[in-house]
Amino acid sequence: MDHTYDDQNIFAKILRGEIPNATVLETEHSLAFNDISPQAPAHVLVIPKGPYVCFDHFAAAASDAEIADFTRAVGEVCRLAGVAADGYRLIANAGRDGVQDVPHLHVHVLGGRRLGRMLSPVS
Ligand code: AMP
Repeated sequence: MDHTYDDQNIFAKILRGEIPNATVLETEHSLAFNDISPQAPAHVLVIPKGPYVCFDHFAAAASDAEIADFTRAVGEVCRLAGVAADGYRLIANAGRDGVQDVPHLHVHVLGGRRLGRMLSPVS
């Protein structure tokens, strides 16, 4: 997959402060904000501040400090969103088959109701 970063993507604009967001958490290397079109009572997106397209790009190219910060931010968001006790789902869509709309790594934190099975079985 091409990891060329498009700095005109909407999350890059959020990081530059060009469009607003409903911030849940900001750390040195990460930002979390409410999804604009929530698919569950709690739906928060966690993004690294660095220019990473998707998870495998981030895992290969980010510094240990960025990876630690991002991982801890996701965990903290689970607590801040109130889903840590009853459970939640993390989703990181990537590329064509993952149906990724915004080409800047983001982890969806979803919860607040029973979410159902993840995918349909392969028949
Ligand atoms: P994905 O399909 O995994 O790339 O998810 C992109 C997500 O970004 C969707 O859930 C959108 O609702 C969300 N989204 C798009 N624009 C914004 C925005 N300006 N603020 C917050 N969430 C957004």
